[in-house]
Amino acid sequence: MGNSKTRENGRNSPVPEGYSFYSSTSSEQRVYITISKNSINLASGQGNPPFKIINIDKDFRILSEVSDRRCIIIEYNSQKGKSSCILRMETVQDYQMWISFLKSLKRPKWDESTSLFCKICAKEFKFFRRQHHCRKCGIVVCKSHARNKVWLHELGYDTKERICNTCFSNKSFG
Ligand SMILES: [Zn+2]
Ligand SMILES: [Zn+2]
Repeated sequence: MGNSKTRENGRNSPVPEGYSFYSSTSSEQRVYITISKNSINLASGQGNPPFKIINIDKDFRILSEVSDRRCIIIEYNSQKGKSSCILRMETVQDYQMWISFLKSLKRPKWDESTSLFCKICAKEFKFFRRQHHCRKCGIVVCKSHARNKVWLHELGYDTKERICNTCFSNKSFG
């Protein structure tokens, strides 16, 4: 329960910021990355206004992880359509922190407003029937519909996480 604050917004905490190398075409430049509520911001230096703002909710995704070169290739929507760029981290530690954080941005928003009953069996929650959030799709279910814990590396988790029966039956997990 100690880290429930982290769980609520779904993202890894604390929110990182720092330098990276950024390349979109043939040139590479050193940039300062910050994360705000809805975007990844790239600026030419710390405190400078961002020259690129990548919207997280609008189709941002990690195309590939090149760990031996500390590179993260990301794709996002821009005015020109789909764009991609490479973020190359300066150290292995930076690479690991950023890849895990950027993946955590893809976690589902948790279903909070309508959590009176399990979304699978429709039984009401009460003291003896507590609610659980599916880490994969975000819905609220009762314990008997959230029995499985699986690896969700693609969402930046490094432990096995609870998912609902629907998600479990849609895919086979290790
Ligand atoms: Zn249920
Ligand atoms: Zn689910």
